[in-house]
Amino acid sequence: MKIRALPRRAAEGPSILGRSAVAAPLSFVALVCLILLVLAGWHEWMTRSDVLRDAAKDAANLARSLTQHADDTFEMSDAALIGIVERLETRGQAPEELDRLSRFMALRVTTLPRIRGLFVYDKTGAWIASSLPSLPVGFNNSDRAYFQRHLRSPERSSFLGTPVLSRSSGEWIVTLSRRYDAPDGSFAGVVLATLDASYFFEHYAHFNVGPHGAIALMHRDGTVMARYPDGPTTVGRNLSRGPLFQQGLPNAPSGNLRYVSPVDGRDRISGYRSSSRLPVVLLVALDVEDALAPWRSDALWRFGAVLVLVGLIASVGWWSIRQAELRQCAEVARLETETNFRLLAEHSGDMVSRIGPDGRRRYVSPASLKIIGRRPEDLLGRNVFEDVHPDDQAELERTVEALKRGQVGEVIVTYRHRHQDGRDIWLESSVHVSLDPHSGEPDGVVATSRDVSDRKALEDALRSMAATDGLTGLANRRRFDEALAAGRSYAIGRGSPLALLMIDVDNFKGFNDHYGHQAGDDCLKKVASAIASKVQVSGAVIARYGGEEMAVVLPHTELRTACEVAEEVREGVEALRLEHARNTAGSWVTVSIGVACRSFAVSERDDDVEADLVMVADKALYAAKNNGRNQIMPPVTGAWEVRDRLGPRTFGACRARVVN
Ligand code: GH3
Ligand code: MG
Ligand code: MG
Repeated sequence: MKIRALPRRAAEGPSILGRSAVAAPLSFVALVCLILLVLAGWHEWMTRSDVLRDAAKDAANLARSLTQHADDTFEMSDAALIGIVERLETRGQAPEELDRLSRFMALRVTTLPRIRGLFVYDKTGAWIASSLPSLPVGFNNSDRAYFQRHLRSPERSSFLGTPVLSRSSGEWIVTLSRRYDAPDGSFAGVVLATLDASYFFEHYAHFNVGPHGAIALMHRDGTVMARYPDGPTTVGRNLSRGPLFQQGLPNAPSGNLRYVSPVDGRDRISGYRSSSRLPVVLLVALDVEDALAPWRSDALWRFGAVLVLVGLIASVGWWSIRQAELRQCAEVARLETETNFRLLAEHSGDMVSRIGPDGRRRYVSPASLKIIGRRPEDLLGRNVFEDVHPDDQAELERTVEALKRGQVGEVIVTYRHRHQDGRDIWLESSVHVSLDPHSGEPDGVVATSRDVSDRKALEDALRSMAATDGLTGLANRRRFDEALAAGRSYAIGRGSPLALLMIDVDNFKGFNDHYGHQAGDDCLKKVASAIASKVQVSGAVIARYGGEEMAVVLPHTELRTACEVAEEVREGVEALRLEHARNTAGSWVTVSIGVACRSFAVSERDDDVEADLVMVADKALYAAKNNGRNQIMPPVTGAWEVRDRLGPRTFGACRARVVN
């Protein structure tokens, strides 16, 4: 059996195929993530809208409440004014009456802390009574807007003025005034109540409108009367060109308004209300950023959690899809490989077999019928070694085991295999390990086998020709040397004897001289075939040693048997009755034979044994020649125990003894 190792094949991974098949689940996961994000975004947007709506509602409610407060404050002041007007018109303006009135007004201011002061001016604008402890001298208020209004208008209703800087205190005050008439109905003067702008400011400070919120009390003409948190800084400022007066009030006396503040430039959501009784407007402005701050903080957390969830879903989804994709690719690759394998195998002239780890065939290609005469279905499940020639089985099994252990990648083995018709044919198989597509571990071997019997026969013939003597057809001298060496190894391995016959044609020079060289050749051929026909020992090699000298290697043969074979050969040649006029040993062609034999102990070491054996046989042959030719001669040295007992004449007795 011949084994040839081939280089290991590079490992090949499965190709990535079928990506489109995972596009749908990938899109689904992406869609789920998108929907989650959209829902979360929509929910947060709705929450934000709710927050702003609630802020607007709160602002409107607060505006309503504070408008009511402003109305109450002014009405309470107006009630005081009505009482003073009534006293002036009924009791007159005598100095003692004005003194009493001043004390009365001081008392009212004490009991009504919202009112800063009460004042009475005559028809020239001069101060004639007040709630102050002493009446300032030299002040005239005829230039004030409220005075001019009452002077010109006969209306007796109260008049709410825009804030002015107090002449007595220098602070911003809000004025509410009424005219009083003389008994003839003509204008007699003005009664005035003043309220501190800071009173409203301090009141508004009790309400939480956020760090950037504002509450403003404004005159209908747009003048700021009080604004929290500014204090006195913005009082008197006119905002009539602002969004409230340009967009809000023209549409509705109350409501909500989203705008950018002209005061501080911030985005505001506001509730406003215009008093139905007085020319005042109350505005509660909440800062959008303030209102949204708690929502924004919560929304960030909520949206962050949703993002984490979406990330998790996307990651798990992607991982699952990736795994499925890899599995699918592996499966596609496996199917492709299997399809290609079958396609190649089924159309191949070679027999392709897949053999499992248990040594049983799992697949056999149809070429098995042509190559070993058996159909694939008859071979499936059968042990691959069962029809291998017994002499080749062990080596083949060792080779397959080495393959499985990864010691070699691929081997080419040549071995004998039983054909269905009973012949042994020579198969040459290329064998390599097959790998499990999932684990990558070896799961058996694949063998591609072809019948190389013809090639082997040709090789044998060529080898035989190279080892054969052209004239006689016997083995040549080189083959003889090999046979003798092999016989020696065999004898040493088994502890058996090895015998050698050296055969020489008697007086052959004379034969040539007498009958010619061609006749000599013919004679040699006949002698050779006579020798071959008489040597029936198994494993014997008959060779032309040189010239007319032949040699026979007799493995596993005792001296006595070797002598018997030699005698049969001698008789066989003589029996040819080939005429030989110059033979000194008779009328026919005869041979002389020297016999040598040697017994071996197991594992004995003797390097010169072949040369010794030839030498001993040669000496025996020489002795036979000297002794008269046409005879056999055992060895003549002391190495052979039978030499002394079996001489040339005693051989017949020996042979007769054996026969009998
Ligand atoms: P003996 O062996 O009996 O002592 O005598 P012999 O005449 O045979 O002696 P020897 O060995 O000297 O002669 C051998 C002869 O064999 C010499 C040679 O002419 C002849 N011979 C050798 N090879 C061939 C061959 O191939 N063909 C023929 N025709 N003759 C050969
Ligand atoms: Mg001779
Ligand atoms: Mg000779």
